[in-house]
Amino acid sequence: MDINKIKKTLPYGLAPESPEEAFDWLKANDYFFGNLINGELVYSESTFKTSNPANGQFLAKISSTSNEDIDKAVSSAKIAYHKWVKEPPFIRAKYLYALARLIQKNSRLISVLETLDNGKPIRESRDIDVPLAARHFYYHAGWAQLLKTEFPDHKSIGPVAQIIPWNFPLLMIAWKIAPALASGNTVILKPADLTPLTAAYFSKLCLEANIPPGVVNIIHGDGTVGAYLAAHEEIKKVAFTGSTRVGQEIRKSTAGQRKSLTLELGGKSPFIVFEDADLDSAVEGVVDAIWFNQGEVCCAGSRLLVQEGVESIFIKKLKTRMSKLRTGNPLDKSTDIGAITSKTQLKKIKSLITLGKEEGATVYQANAETPGGGLYIQPTLITDVHNSMRIAQEEIFGPVLVVISFRTPFEAVEVANNSRYGLSASIWTENINLALDLAPKVKAGVIWINSTNLFDAGVGFGGVRESGFGREGGREGMLDYLLPKPTQNRKKQVTKKQSRLQTSQNSEEEINRTRKLYINGHQVRPDGGYVRKIMDYRGNTIGQVPEGNRKDVRNAVEAAKAEKKWTGMSSYNRAQILFYLAENLSLRRKEYEKTLMQSSEQRGKEE
Ligand code: NAP
Ligand code: MG
Repeated sequence: MDINKIKKTLPYGLAPESPEEAFDWLKANDYFFGNLINGELVYSESTFKTSNPANGQFLAKISSTSNEDIDKAVSSAKIAYHKWVKEPPFIRAKYLYALARLIQKNSRLISVLETLDNGKPIRESRDIDVPLAARHFYYHAGWAQLLKTEFPDHKSIGPVAQIIPWNFPLLMIAWKIAPALASGNTVILKPADLTPLTAAYFSKLCLEANIPPGVVNIIHGDGTVGAYLAAHEEIKKVAFTGSTRVGQEIRKSTAGQRKSLTLELGGKSPFIVFEDADLDSAVEGVVDAIWFNQGEVCCAGSRLLVQEGVESIFIKKLKTRMSKLRTGNPLDKSTDIGAITSKTQLKKIKSLITLGKEEGATVYQANAETPGGGLYIQPTLITDVHNSMRIAQEEIFGPVLVVISFRTPFEAVEVANNSRYGLSASIWTENINLALDLAPKVKAGVIWINSTNLFDAGVGFGGVRESGFGREGGREGMLDYLLPKPTQNRKKQVTKKQSRLQTSQNSEEEINRTRKLYINGHQVRPDGGYVRKIMDYRGNTIGQVPEGNRKDVRNAVEAAKAEKKWTGMSSYNRAQILFYLAENLSLRRKEYEKTLMQSSEQRGKEE
């Protein structure tokens, strides 16, 4: 093949990454992969296939996990937990470093595998997914080492079920497994059945790193495997990333099981451009927000809110930029938009675009021709959109951007918040005061200013509203894999003598004093005139609280509804009041600590 001849026929040069090493690896494994259970690869007769969405080529056959094997994986994680949690922190750190290092050492092969299986451009798997995955393991190796000193009042949870989607297969493994192991838990992880290859490779790395059997289990299969695993009674925490629908199902199926739960779900994030923004930078921001990973990104900036005065110039600039985006072979290093991961997903994207047209919106693609042979779709821009249309409300999870204009900052916030989701938002303006004023008003877990899609292992990521709860990354991410320690230490602190002292103080409380409620800026007697005693577990009164009735509740709600001053206040003023409260609380710190210790003794006993 004369490479120069091929180059001449293309509008740009060819720069393909070689898949040879990855194919050699698939071949060496007979194109067949098992589940990692109790430190061994377990193969099953029931299998499913994975293929390359860029050309439909078969890649490998994967073992599905039976319920019996899921039980085995869970029980091995339970047994391994008792030993793993007692390991000195530096031992756990050592394993995490080993995994980070192995990912780095094999980064080229892993990037190609990810691109083959998922369809994302090699530029992204090579420069974003794989380095960030390694970074998560390095970062959490640090936490593993500092666990006892940084979280002295917390303990690990136990065997954790982790279920992940297909859009960032390896990166999601890192986001899930690294903090779980660093905090002393053991895991059973289920990858998406569409993208199992990097998980199969990761299983091999776990064996290479000599991770003790049972500490990491990786089980393949479809949603039924996920459902059985999440509801398993020996599982102490479920960490799920995926669609809001499945998140809701998991929440229902685990209700009442006393499991910890974190859900990272969908989004429809606003990308807000003000007329004073640096428009050229904002155009690059849009490219990154919606056309990174073919728009199959939970926090994709899929709703462009642009201020009326610059709407037409901004759309013009955006269209020019769109004409330069290259859609095609994901293994080509100059490809910007790769293949959509599955036929079903491509169909969903197309049907939502058609729906948009039917709703009266205008659909634009710079290049209507789609490369053949794979699941491709060109970057799409949809104008003449109202926020009430389904394309403005539903997550499309593809390279499709809808545009809505606004006039004032107030209107921008109103439109941004008119969504059931709340994962992320981007605000673009040269006026930093405006950005800082708006950021807390937009309901989202992550807000970027004059930037977008910035991630680091040291920064918590997660949503609010129907985008889920819990954080991944940072100190807050570690806390989601820990539980507050039971109160035994605190029990010791309350000696018999102190207890007697408290009882004598408490008898003073017995004097009939009506405790007051705080409603509408005043201390008021409870309508019914009743107070309720609060006891510690020995039955001693430790305080009294007023007992509100329906009328008190109504008064409080009315007062809160009528209160406009607080919302209208500047953020600075509100911050001052919060500081003042914090200052006063810290002056009475000892008193509060004492009360909390007494009342949590009660909880400790119940547990
Ligand atoms: P999905 O259908 O919810 O699947 C996610 C995972 O759950 C897959 O492993 C899936 O298995 C499994 N699953 C399916 N049904 C289940 C059930 N009833 N019980 C337990 N597990 C079940 O989502 P997806 O279509 O793969 O992923 C796209 C979604 O993920 C988007 O909505 C996106 O916004 C969201 N996402 C969110 C974040 C975030 O951090 N917030 C990050 C990435 C993606 P199979 O695929 O094998 O059937
Ligand atoms: Mg695949």
